[in-house]
Amino acid sequence: MNRCLFCENPISAFMTFGRMPLASGFLLPEDFGDEYYYELKPALCDACKLFQIVDVPDNKRVFHSGYTHVTSTSAFMIQHLKHLAQDVIQEYLVDEDPFVVEIGSNDGSLLTNFVQAGIRVLGIEPARAVAEMARNAGVKTTIKYFNEEMAVEVKKQAGPADIIFGINVIAHISDINATGEGIKTLLKDNGVFIFEAVYLKDIVVNNAYSQIYDEHVFNYSVTSVKNIFSKYGLELFNIKNINTQGGSMRFYLAPTGSREVKSSVDDQIKKEERIHLHDESTLDFFRIGCEQSRDRFRALIFDLKNQKKHIGGYGAATKSTIMINYCQFTAQDIDYLIDSTPLKQNRASPGAHIPVKTPAYFRAHYPDYMIIFPWNHAEEIRSKEKDFETQGGQWIIPDKDLIVVGQNGETKWI
Ligand SMILES: [Zn+2]
Repeated sequence: MNRCLFCENPISAFMTFGRMPLASGFLLPEDFGDEYYYELKPALCDACKLFQIVDVPDNKRVFHSGYTHVTSTSAFMIQHLKHLAQDVIQEYLVDEDPFVVEIGSNDGSLLTNFVQAGIRVLGIEPARAVAEMARNAGVKTTIKYFNEEMAVEVKKQAGPADIIFGINVIAHISDINATGEGIKTLLKDNGVFIFEAVYLKDIVVNNAYSQIYDEHVFNYSVTSVKNIFSKYGLELFNIKNINTQGGSMRFYLAPTGSREVKSSVDDQIKKEERIHLHDESTLDFFRIGCEQSRDRFRALIFDLKNQKKHIGGYGAATKSTIMINYCQFTAQDIDYLIDSTPLKQNRASPGAHIPVKTPAYFRAHYPDYMIIFPWNHAEEIRSKEKDFETQGGQWIIPDKDLIVVGQNGETKWI
């Protein structure tokens, strides 16, 4: 029997996405034989309402040293983090000599804004390659996993934290109780814990199943965040919808009773109740929606292959891994993927082993159709690659409604 990773209530999966490789596990041909697979199955805990995947692969396997995601490769993300830092400096850093900590600080893209303002920081990042990038950029970083023991150590050396950030990382750490204990230990009495994560409602309403994978052990609703962190004396006092990763939420928490709770928190919880976000019937609708979306995508690609069309994929990332493997596409269906991250180029995609090429390769070898896997950036990509459409190329956008866009922006819903 599986148990909730937070409250240990028995849970059972409401669907399966089948056998999955690690979403970021881009690999070399000599490693194909050792590739790790698990069955991707989500569940929702009846007691605490936490949406989670069951049979989670070990964190250490997931965030191995070759882990390829680098925040600074996204210009959009850099701007987003800069604005977040400006807001926090203005609103929450009121004490003398404040101290800002970030869990999962990646290449230091957020903390660098505080360093520039002369504020003490510490990044905590277990992935060595990106942690070294942060250090080289002048962001003090410790290469470790965050937990209570680590929090005690940091507090002893640098004092309690005015702000603790977790940007697209709190959903990734399977030991949620160690995270909770650690934050409780390290946060100042008037401190604020701010985290951003993909929002469960956006996943369910938009059938955005590619947000569910090994790294996103949890997908949070406002209700579940309120339930979980109250165990650690932290009160959810504010939320903000943000447009990253195709629908996310920023959660603001502080020691219980230390801040006024904004009405937006209860309003959103009521909204989640109204749409029955946590009910079995809703999850069943979601499952059917995912299956229909997969079947439509497969029908389209197989039809094009029957017509001997060439198909490529734009953006080799977690979203492409989940969609490709759930739809069981192979290198016979998709000729190549392209990505601007050098660490992924000349490797093969997880599971399907589709070769990953450079954007320059794409521009020299236009296929007939190109799938935009990061569907939330479709507009940005289309405007960057206008020539593809001019040359007669067509985009396939696997959004909630599968969309094909051809010459002169002509759009077809499948
Ligand atoms: Zn639970």
